[in-house]
Amino acid sequence: MDKLEILEGRKQQVYEKTKEAEAFDIKCETTSLSGSVSQRACVFCGSRVVLYPVADALHLVHGPIGCAAYTWDIRGALSSGPELHRLSFSTDLKEMDVIYGGEKKLLASIIELVDQYSPKAAFIYSTCIIGLIGDDIDAVCKKAAKETGIPVLPVHSEGFKGTKKDGYKAACDALMKIVGTGSIEGISKYSINILGEFNLAGEAWIIKDYYEQMGIEVVSTMTGDGRIDDICRSHGASLNIVQCSGSMIRQAKMMEEKYGIPYLRVSYFGIEDMSKALYDVAKHFSDNPAILDAAKKLVSREVSELYPQLLKFRNALSGKKAAIYVGGAFKAFSLIKALASIGVDVVMAGSQTGNSDDYAGLKEMCDEGTVIVDDSNPVELSKFILEKEADLLIGGVKERPIAYKLGVGFCDHNHERKIPLAGFVGMLNFAKEVYQSVMSPVWQFAPRKGGFS
Ligand code: SF4
Repeated sequence: MDKLEILEGRKQQVYEKTKEAEAFDIKCETTSLSGSVSQRACVFCGSRVVLYPVADALHLVHGPIGCAAYTWDIRGALSSGPELHRLSFSTDLKEMDVIYGGEKKLLASIIELVDQYSPKAAFIYSTCIIGLIGDDIDAVCKKAAKETGIPVLPVHSEGFKGTKKDGYKAACDALMKIVGTGSIEGISKYSINILGEFNLAGEAWIIKDYYEQMGIEVVSTMTGDGRIDDICRSHGASLNIVQCSGSMIRQAKMMEEKYGIPYLRVSYFGIEDMSKALYDVAKHFSDNPAILDAAKKLVSREVSELYPQLLKFRNALSGKKAAIYVGGAFKAFSLIKALASIGVDVVMAGSQTGNSDDYAGLKEMCDEGTVIVDDSNPVELSKFILEKEADLLIGGVKERPIAYKLGVGFCDHNHERKIPLAGFVGMLNFAKEVYQSVMSPVWQFAPRKGGFS
């Protein structure tokens, strides 16, 4: 335990809530400290995770082959139809391309791929090396769009140019190029776009079904199970609802500014937030009381089915402790509430991309003794898990090995999961998963606390 210390340059991004704690002034929204081995991904990864779920588009990575390792295998967004997004294409730049430029290769690749796969649009991702050699991907995309007749959208996601959040921005900027280009004829007055839901394990289908049961038309989901034609006509919806606000709040703001579409921030995780997400939308359409009635019926039915099942898990898990480390901090709010509903206390809450408002909100929600951390790394996470005697870590693919090495339960709340955790059914899945991991007999064989030998 003595070996685990926080680097001097990281101390302002870590806060422990205590009675004596000084004024809350956590540092965030900054580039990662050199040498800290941040859990964050690069700008390109940020744009990739937002855009790849668009299933009928071509996704071409312009750069050396390594960047293309971020594929569907890492974030397997599901599609109800086309599955072009599951293929990973790269221009695979080599030394000579770096010396002489890769524009010709890029143009030839786009034309060949469009010819072979007939996508509805193409996203062309710029990587670090493109930023260095200065290929003009805007010009190439323009030329390719002219030759192919489909939208060819540059995504300015050079890995070094900022944080993962800059990748989200690049993705939203690319999407905005096609929003507004489709017909909005026939779209209902009671209609929404679902933003920031990526359908990793079928969540978009669960949420869409809830809203449709309330009599609301879902024009597009951005981007889970996404379709180019739907995105093109998404400016015809009356309301945007934004989950994962870190990634798509920019999109909602741009659509509000350009098309006057208001937006609501929601979460579909846990009973409380899921119900609120339905009621908030119903209240927005208050001129149609049938929508609110339908929401009440739906929530009542789902909660009465779910609650007795959750009680069993709550009894078993009561008093267990969880550490949370997620991408966007908004997700942590829902997780804290959901864990409380099954009797689990949160002893650490952190995120990769939270802002000062997010962290202030976390501070309000958390109990005394909870550690709040921005842009953490494996050493810090290990330290807090051990010090706070957590029984569970909730995170993503990069956090899983940390938990297992420490002999602590793990729940994937990120890219790799295969079980939906959204909606009422998702809450039950979450409780089951937490229970199975925390209560697993395997931990009796692990060096549970302080075991670094
Ligand atoms: S940091 Fe640069 S080279 Fe590495 S994956 Fe991201 S874009 Fe590619």
